[in-house]
Amino acid sequence: MVKALSGSLSFVAATLLGACGSGAGKLAAPAPIASTTAIVGANLWDGTGHPMVSNAVTLVEGDRILCAGAMGECTIPAGARIIDAQGQFLIPGLIDSHVHLLFLTNGSAGEELALDLRDLLAQGVTTVRDMGTDPAALLARVNAIQTAPRVYVMQLVAGRRFFFNGFHPTQTARGTVYRQPPAMAMQALGWRPVVYARGDNADSVVAAARAAGAMGIKLYAQLDSGSVRELAAAAHRAGMPVWGHAWVQPTSVLEQATAGQDGVVHAAGLAGELFTVEERDTLIRDGDLQSATARVATGESAHDPRILAVLDTLASRGTMFEPTLDATRHSVAYYDSRRRHIPSIQEDYVRAASAFGMEVTREAVRHGVGISAGSDHVAFGPVRDRPSLLGELQLLVDSIALTPTAALLAATRDAARAIGGDPSRRIGTIEPGHLADLVLLSKNPLENIRNLESVEWVMRGGRLWRPGQLRSGIALR
Ligand SMILES: [Zn+2]
Repeated sequence: MVKALSGSLSFVAATLLGACGSGAGKLAAPAPIASTTAIVGANLWDGTGHPMVSNAVTLVEGDRILCAGAMGECTIPAGARIIDAQGQFLIPGLIDSHVHLLFLTNGSAGEELALDLRDLLAQGVTTVRDMGTDPAALLARVNAIQTAPRVYVMQLVAGRRFFFNGFHPTQTARGTVYRQPPAMAMQALGWRPVVYARGDNADSVVAAARAAGAMGIKLYAQLDSGSVRELAAAAHRAGMPVWGHAWVQPTSVLEQATAGQDGVVHAAGLAGELFTVEERDTLIRDGDLQSATARVATGESAHDPRILAVLDTLASRGTMFEPTLDATRHSVAYYDSRRRHIPSIQEDYVRAASAFGMEVTREAVRHGVGISAGSDHVAFGPVRDRPSLLGELQLLVDSIALTPTAALLAATRDAARAIGGDPSRRIGTIEPGHLADLVLLSKNPLENIRNLESVEWVMRGGRLWRPGQLRSGIALR
């Protein structure tokens, strides 16, 4: 194979020389293909927390970063491929720590999925974490796609009531109503939640998740605090992170954090802290949960001592928090845009969740809780209706008053920490030995977070694309 390849390369070289008319009867040896790429002259923001370095040199070899620093700190090897980035801005590839890619019923399993992944890459997103899916089915699809961010997947776990509640017929004024359990709606999307009841073998749930390709578990609903503790301990024994929906009725966020969970998602879910233990245990059906939340969640109740106590616990334990503000903004916009306006339980819930979640996130920042920028992006529907990482970062800056630097850390270094496990040691910052996941911008994102839209090119593991190539469907190196 090697012989045949070098033979054909000589043939190409000879043909090219002939075509140029410069052949003097003697063949020049073909130039070796550069194994090192040097990105020269950029303003380097490496995501470690260090200030920006101007006129930097960043060396990439294969899929790794070899060196990154001021001119003179990194020696450019002879023959390196040089990328001139004078006056531009080099940052780590962005990480969206909360997406949902697989929707069989909405068609995001085939072409739609491939286009969504390309679009994410064109936005500078080089890593995503899917927070609810069928791990094996999604990974099989993603692995068949060359042009995509890195995809890490969590295994959903929920309690028995999530799988079986709803089979019982209910008598109403209009007759007998049969409802389907929420797990069935989720399964119809093509997702694969796993059931867990207290005392089940948590280690085998975790082992099955790993076998399916998941790198962690996400607790979803109807888990008591004992189950949360058992699952968190089992996942940690296996070296896997445990995240959870805030909250997993009946277990509160406070109980999730003290059980050792690594992170919680959705700011609005902290409203669960405002119910008593007995109330929490009765809020099983979605409608009941939504109307109860709409009743207690307000801009004022976000400052309730019970909420602040939870935030202090998250901060002191290092439990991360993913507010998913852009998803809530999209839900509010949906109700705002309706022509016929009939308020529903869902609308009341969404509006309450929005006001409450925004205030809770401000308090979380004030209390020093680690924030990860996850958008709850979905891979189907009109693009304007999909929550995005850029939308989440804009809200963190505009509405929560994070600096652009702090917001960017939430989508790089801290999002890598949120993902945890082995990837957290290889992505999120531009450091020697880390994967070469980089974004070059023409404008400074630390001055205005919207400058993240000025993507010149994006690199994933040393492979480089320009947004135009990705969006026109032509993938070039
Ligand atoms: Zn989600």
